[in-house]
Amino acid sequence: MEVSFKHEIEQLRLGEGDTFHGEGILAITKALLQSGVSYIGGYQGAPVSHLLDVMVQAKSLVAELGVHVEACSNEASAAAMLGASIHYPVRGAVTWKSIVGTNVAADALANLASPGVTGGVLMVIGEDYGEGASVVQERTHAYAMKSTVLLLDPRPELATMVDMVEHAFAMSEASNMPAMMELRIRACHVRGSFTCRDNRRPAVSALAPMAEPGSFDYGRLAHPPSTFRHEKLKTEERLPAARRYIVEHGLNELHAGRHHDIGIIVQGGIAPALLRSLQQFGLADAFGQSDIPLLVLNVTYPLVPEQVAGFADGKRAVLVVEEGSPEYIEQEIATHLRRHDLPTTLHGKDMLPAAGELNTEAIMHGLLSFLDRHAPQVHTQPVATMLAATRDRRQQAAARLDAALPTRPPGFCIGCPERPVFSAIKLVQQEVGQVHIAADIGCHSFATFEPFSLGHSILGYGMSLASRAGVSPMMQRRVLSIMGDGGFWHNGLLTGVQSALFNGDDAVLLIFKNGYTSATGTQDIISTPGKRVKAAAGDKLASLTASDRTIEDTLAGLGVQWLRTVHSYRVAAMRDTLREAMTTSFPGLKVIIAEGECQLERQRRVRPWLAGLLSRGERVVRVKYGVDEDVCNGDHACMRLSGCPTLTLKDNPDPLKVDPVATVIDGCVGCGLCGENAHAATLCPSFYRAEVVQNPRWHERVVDAVRQLALRLLQPA
Ligand code: SF4
Ligand code: SF4
Repeated sequence: MEVSFKHEIEQLRLGEGDTFHGEGILAITKALLQSGVSYIGGYQGAPVSHLLDVMVQAKSLVAELGVHVEACSNEASAAAMLGASIHYPVRGAVTWKSIVGTNVAADALANLASPGVTGGVLMVIGEDYGEGASVVQERTHAYAMKSTVLLLDPRPELATMVDMVEHAFAMSEASNMPAMMELRIRACHVRGSFTCRDNRRPAVSALAPMAEPGSFDYGRLAHPPSTFRHEKLKTEERLPAARRYIVEHGLNELHAGRHHDIGIIVQGGIAPALLRSLQQFGLADAFGQSDIPLLVLNVTYPLVPEQVAGFADGKRAVLVVEEGSPEYIEQEIATHLRRHDLPTTLHGKDMLPAAGELNTEAIMHGLLSFLDRHAPQVHTQPVATMLAATRDRRQQAAARLDAALPTRPPGFCIGCPERPVFSAIKLVQQEVGQVHIAADIGCHSFATFEPFSLGHSILGYGMSLASRAGVSPMMQRRVLSIMGDGGFWHNGLLTGVQSALFNGDDAVLLIFKNGYTSATGTQDIISTPGKRVKAAAGDKLASLTASDRTIEDTLAGLGVQWLRTVHSYRVAAMRDTLREAMTTSFPGLKVIIAEGECQLERQRRVRPWLAGLLSRGERVVRVKYGVDEDVCNGDHACMRLSGCPTLTLKDNPDPLKVDPVATVIDGCVGCGLCGENAHAATLCPSFYRAEVVQNPRWHERVVDAVRQLALRLLQPA
């Protein structure tokens, strides 16, 4: 992992009374250390990646405190770590991206929540919902309800978030329930400050290990008949204990307001958007004081029935501002109002969007309906006019932009080693025909966009080979499954490879071995040879070394008999290997490993090294590709095969030709794909390869001078 968190790690050392300045997710990380955690684990994923990334790099700090840090192989292994807390008075925290990560962790989570915990447990969950999200849109709330797990959704203000971390551990211990804290993208990246406390060295830790294991207790196993008792404990003891804690410590915020006959109940994480929306109506100030009474739920599960009923009592109407679908909180509140025999009218998803992020504009629409109906004294016309004008402007802009702008889908980095492989897939399909492609999570899913449009389904991280099992038996041509090395270790080895081998399936798997889980921030994996490569002073430009064969050895050990490793930039060789895999008479699992280091990581390593060479006046050679505009015929076949952002168009300099010609702009990293494609697909000979020499040697200067002279003599003035 090349990104350095040196500054952030210094912040984690701050002590009592110091002021922390920074991002929400780092404040949470600091709060974990202040809470005396014994261990921290997790699986990276936006928007919570930094928590684990920072802890992995903060080796000396965690060693001083005795905190164990584990970079888990997936979310299930992270959730399973929490099992320590079933028996021992140790606090533990893990992190992952939800909802996908929670799905993976669900088995361990249910088996943790059933016996309950002794030491406090906190899962820091990246609630990747709404604008900017990269996963299926579902809510973590469902897991909290079904497994009886505390769910905190703190107001995204650093001091509140830090307090809630401490309360989450204490409430978990008071109720024996594990706790989850959901953090949306904005909560993770909001910046602010809070006053620190000292980091706490845990009583039980790697520095102070326990002498003996806990005594055997069948009641702590998630096995029948214990599970029947657990079910009763959940409802009869744990939930009431959690509710007592919420009330006694004032975790949910009650704000009075002068319009006391109406009220709003809001998730803590959405509270800033609600207050900003109220401000547009003149019903809140810039400091968050609201004229309408608010119940801000920093804990969204469990709700406290008496608190909800007490808030609604005496009000004509209450609006629930809850993001996502289904509206679990609103439904539960309706139940509590009914059970308390309250006549308060309840609104929520009848006035707010059922799906999608609740940004300020969406909430303003809901407030407009609510206020017009229940607070006619509020002058809402200015906001109604503003919303209508915004809608009109958006429609006009959309009408204009649709016609004028081409779409610009996301794509691979410049020089990405995965791009050439998809060029090869396009080429091989011209020979063997179109094939069903089972795609996967990872950077390679960018190939589902233009110019490749390759991939029929994505069923989960590392699931491509497994998903093929339902398709390939009904296909005349073999199905091609694509997986990254991150996905392979996360899940694909067991769910896909093991299953295909066990069933003797006739399947083709293509694994991208780029050395990292690149899509989540290029974290190291077990097959990362990077540390050795990065340390090799004379080998800074080396790609992954052929000697690192962790994936190949694992596959061979499992019994894969048809296994080929091909460098991903060798387009013709990759096309030929793919053709062989799709047509060979070998009936079992065929695996192709596309080997080529993630370009993002490579550039991070290479650029400082090159800058160092240049600053010392040493010779540096950079490779660039270019297009001879006199030869380019303007058919753009090279672009349809590549999709590299630095291979683009420019006006044809020939006044007799109208088609724009291809050109390579600044930014080309000289990966060589242009040349490989031109060769493999027999394209026009317009590409050239140039070497840009900086700080040339004396004889190179002499040769250059001779060449320049010859050119001047041969070219007419
Ligand atoms: S991060 Fe690495 S693997 Fe991902 S698109 Fe960029 S170069 Fe390719
Ligand atoms: S050689 Fe071609 S594909 Fe590679 S970075 Fe340059 S323009 Fe892009």
